[in-house]
Amino acid sequence: MPADDPDPAAFQNQPISQLLVKVATRCNIDCSYCYWFRDAAVYDKPKLMGAEVLDRLLQRIEEHVAKHSLVDFPIILHGGEPLLWGVENFHRMAEACEGISSRTGCELPIAVTTNGVLIDDDWLNCFEAHDISVAISLDGPAHIHDVHRRTFQGTGTHAAVERAARMLASRDIGTIALAVCNPGYPPTDYVEFFAACGIANYDIMIPDATVDEHPPSIAAFYNGLFNLWLEANRGKPTVNIRIISDMITALLGSNSPTEGVGYKPVELCTIMTDGSVEAHDVLRIAGDGFTRTTFNIFEHAIDEVRNEPRWKAARDASIKLCDKCRQCKFMGACGGGYLPHRFSKKNGYDNPSVYCDDLYSMFENMQSVLESHLYVAKPGGERLNVRDALQRA
Ligand code: SF4
Ligand code: SF4
Repeated sequence: MPADDPDPAAFQNQPISQLLVKVATRCNIDCSYCYWFRDAAVYDKPKLMGAEVLDRLLQRIEEHVAKHSLVDFPIILHGGEPLLWGVENFHRMAEACEGISSRTGCELPIAVTTNGVLIDDDWLNCFEAHDISVAISLDGPAHIHDVHRRTFQGTGTHAAVERAARMLASRDIGTIALAVCNPGYPPTDYVEFFAACGIANYDIMIPDATVDEHPPSIAAFYNGLFNLWLEANRGKPTVNIRIISDMITALLGSNSPTEGVGYKPVELCTIMTDGSVEAHDVLRIAGDGFTRTTFNIFEHAIDEVRNEPRWKAARDASIKLCDKCRQCKFMGACGGGYLPHRFSKKNGYDNPSVYCDDLYSMFENMQSVLESHLYVAKPGGERLNVRDALQRA
């Protein structure tokens, strides 16, 4: 893939491929590493998305999928804590999306990312009824989770979130647990905890940090995690750890499904509770108002955000890599690291990831293990050593 945008004219005509919808701007807990409240601009927004904004958003979604003849348009409900929006609003939105699907033929899969504290049977019934998939933030066992994920009174939230995760695992609901890596603890603490909870699909995400910070090294943690993943899946696939499968996917030359791994443009469009449109949510790690645009869904169609300078600047930064990344042998697989991890006050996004040394070590370790142990099964039954597959990619 080239390291620059291929065709500006084609860019203007492309649809936005997924939507992040902020239905609540406040939260019911107080995590110490939360990037959302690093940007005080969130307090200027309504606490919850109102009916008028939701109606307009649904119109814009239908207009967008029809205009571009989309067959799939994922919608991620987010916050703050999105369940503060209330279960009735979730039902209303999901039913409206089902109506749009039946009129346009476009699937509108809904996912929600939640801290899980409010989950009860009514929520489970709603998720199951509308096939809403759930990402629940759970940093593994209590001694890791409760370091950062606390109530406003300072008490840990682990017991409530583990209860919610177990409830989700007991129902027919697509669920992924999202943990943030704390490299001060061994990866076995996470892997054993999720196995004991019956959670076989989870991620252990790289902690957010910019180049202006000095986060601890993560390579030993992830190299250990990779070994545990290999061991757990040796006989048959039993556990999916998203960052590991994404890194392997990217290393083998395919697009990883998540934005944090691999070389590809970040094109997420975020809708706020007042209908304003923002650039990628997590870029507010860079500070106050950094993601704000001049667009809103009352005046602009969803795909018009492509003409908005701030949104386009963030999108362009995601594929314009610094010199070091352009010359790196893992450029395609790593993509310079997750966009917010490339930010510095001095150079903007023109840096390798703050985790560059770690990422290099992780990809190198993964590549050497894959080359020596794994085979790719070809459709005709031929088995291809991964070293050969990597050379052909
Ligand atoms: S649950 Fe999410 S939004 Fe709420 S404080 Fe924690 S990280 Fe921030
Ligand atoms: S390993 Fe470092 S130099 Fe290589 S692409 Fe990733 S961030 Fe850039």
